[in-house]
Amino acid sequence: MKTIGIFGGGQLGSMLTQSIFKLGGNVCIYDESKNSVCSRQVAKFYQGSYHDETNLQEFNSNCDILTYEFENIPYTTVSKFSDKTIPNSNILKICQNRIYEKQFLQNHNLPIVRHIIIENEHELEEQLRAFSFPLILKSAKGGYDGKSQYIFNSEAEFKLLATQIINNPRFFPAVAEEKISLSKEVSCIIAQTQDGNIINFPIIENVHHDNILEYSICPARINTELSKTIIQYSTQIVKAFNLIGLIVIEFFLSTNSPKSDLSIDNTHIFINEIAPRPHNSGHLTIKACNLSQFDVLARILLNMPCNQPELILSGSICMINIFGESFLNNPNGNLNFQNCALSKNLIDLNIYGKTQAKLGRKMGHLTVNHIDAMSAIELAKISKASLSS
Ligand code: ADP
Ligand code: MG
Repeated sequence: MKTIGIFGGGQLGSMLTQSIFKLGGNVCIYDESKNSVCSRQVAKFYQGSYHDETNLQEFNSNCDILTYEFENIPYTTVSKFSDKTIPNSNILKICQNRIYEKQFLQNHNLPIVRHIIIENEHELEEQLRAFSFPLILKSAKGGYDGKSQYIFNSEAEFKLLATQIINNPRFFPAVAEEKISLSKEVSCIIAQTQDGNIINFPIIENVHHDNILEYSICPARINTELSKTIIQYSTQIVKAFNLIGLIVIEFFLSTNSPKSDLSIDNTHIFINEIAPRPHNSGHLTIKACNLSQFDVLARILLNMPCNQPELILSGSICMINIFGESFLNNPNGNLNFQNCALSKNLIDLNIYGKTQAKLGRKMGHLTVNHIDAMSAIELAKISKASLSS
């Protein structure tokens, strides 16, 4: 059986590992931290710097196919092994840099939010003044979970932090995007198998708090026409990438913003960003679908056939993230499973086993199934709250 090497040993790598194991595959993990989530579960765990040539070569020599669970793995590390990396390293290069990503989407006439590129700290003040507030300033590289970005509703807000940002040249290059009024955020998980079969999951609706994903709902509360258009755009991206593997595309929907090229029922669609890997919003597919996002990627990596995944539950499914706060709010620094674990609507509870709980750090998630979205969201929130009661 084949051995799949995964760059990154966090929760995404861990859930992917379980899907590969189910199909009889072997897994090697490479991560910089010896305490990463996967270190608990994978026998062949390589701990080392992403620039440690010897360690990387040894890891590579034990693997048939390589993939990555996180787009912030250095491109130069992954591109050394481009002949056996899925998705190919060129896709990683584009998705790990917001400037390349926007250029790619623009070149393919796909709708994105109005933005400017700011090459360095010297240009920042002048360029932002010429743009318009409110805006979101994002470092081109390295951000995730709302990190490395600033929301400025006015020039006065920007002035308060201007010196701090200018004194951090590593923040640049950056992009400033118009902060649009969002009516919804959704994601489309889409994949292409090695023999050219394109498959997608039902569209998932995402609710963020402080720019981090709080919970996801499936099916998304959008009409069929909108859903079809989102899948059409996503398919266009898969083809433009010549993708083998799985990607997740984040969309902004707005009923009250400057026009994008496309509007359906007065809803404007914008592509926010592309993750070249499984995604937090897709965790609900583990129990809600006959094949999860990890199962689909595992099949592609192992070059096995794969059908279109289907929802196997009726009603609505809600996945809610469990952050470090849930641990820290308890006097003993742990979770209280007493009330939560008994609900029959709770269909998944996954605690990643991270050694340290921190504010805003994703420590686990839980998924519930209920008759409609409102009930599912409410129960997910209650179940989560009970963990720290
Ligand atoms: P990350 O890589 O950290 O996920 P995103 O660019 O997806 O960064 O931004 C995180 C969240 O911040 C988005 O899901 C959305 O809720 C909000 N956001 C980002 N850009 C904009 C924008 N231009 N207008 C309005 N909200 C935005
Ligand atoms: Mg995002």
